[in-house]
Amino acid sequence: MTLLEIKNLSKIYHGKNGAKVQALSDVSLDIAAGEVVGVVGESGCGKSTLGRSLLRLIEPSGGQVLFEGQDIVPLKKSALKPMRRDLQIIFQDPFGSLNPRHKVGKVIGEPLEVHGIGTKQQRQEKVRELLDLVGLPQNAIDRHPHEFSGGQRQRIAIARALALDPKLIVADEAVSALDVSIQSQIINLIAKLQKQLNISILFISHDLSVIRHVSDRIAIMYLGRIVEMGETEEVMQNPQHPYTQSLLSAIPRVGEKRARTVLAGEVPDPANPPSGCAFHTRCPKVMDVCKQTRPELKAQTQGAVACHLFPQ
Ligand code: SF4
Ligand code: MG
Repeated sequence: MTLLEIKNLSKIYHGKNGAKVQALSDVSLDIAAGEVVGVVGESGCGKSTLGRSLLRLIEPSGGQVLFEGQDIVPLKKSALKPMRRDLQIIFQDPFGSLNPRHKVGKVIGEPLEVHGIGTKQQRQEKVRELLDLVGLPQNAIDRHPHEFSGGQRQRIAIARALALDPKLIVADEAVSALDVSIQSQIINLIAKLQKQLNISILFISHDLSVIRHVSDRIAIMYLGRIVEMGETEEVMQNPQHPYTQSLLSAIPRVGEKRARTVLAGEVPDPANPPSGCAFHTRCPKVMDVCKQTRPELKAQTQGAVACHLFPQ
């Protein structure tokens, strides 16, 4: 069953000097109930804009976000509030996203309070369950976020995101600020809770090796567009888009025979994207047509790809 259906979502930022930046262009993506979809791409490719626009933490410039069939883009804030229960986010920075003045019990229980759920005692009870769920000690309730390590703070953020029993969580670089050893603990925790609670997750990361472990499907983004989409293992084993191939080849692997295609050049300025295929300035397989015509994301034998090397 489709839980969330994003259709042609766009976001344009207007700069001071009249410059327009198309941060998100025509992104369509769906997430089934209980599914984890990974979104990967270099910094500035629009991943966070996608995650935030679909939750309307920033306002999309166009397109639809159907949650259980209802488009939430045109909803007034008041109509959106009850839906916020079902749609939560975990941010990258567990230091910045938790109010340092509040005790952990208050931080985790706050969403329940905001939505007027339960009595004070019931909320306390729920907070205790959540602490258990994320592997934090009960006495965390009366301590402050700064008394905890980065990984534990991210556990607090996860508990808070789970407080309202959401159906979908956007995890935006949820482990990127953590040490590698702690990263895997938090990824495992998220994966475990996702299965246990059957939550859908949009897992955003610049790191394919992180995404790979948690995602059923992945979407690869480049300059505001999805350029490849498919089952995680299919894409990892047999990446089709030249950009996906270069992202993958940047991950060192034991016994790897495949030649490394190192990405040439910098990510182009999003305010001034290349014509045609936006990847053409860095693509090792660029053809004449690529500079003129933008390839559409089209379903192929495996997944979907936006590239002129594939039938358009
Ligand atoms: Fe490369 Fe052309 Fe495909 Fe773009 S459309 S990825 S430039 S081959
Ligand atoms: Mg980001």
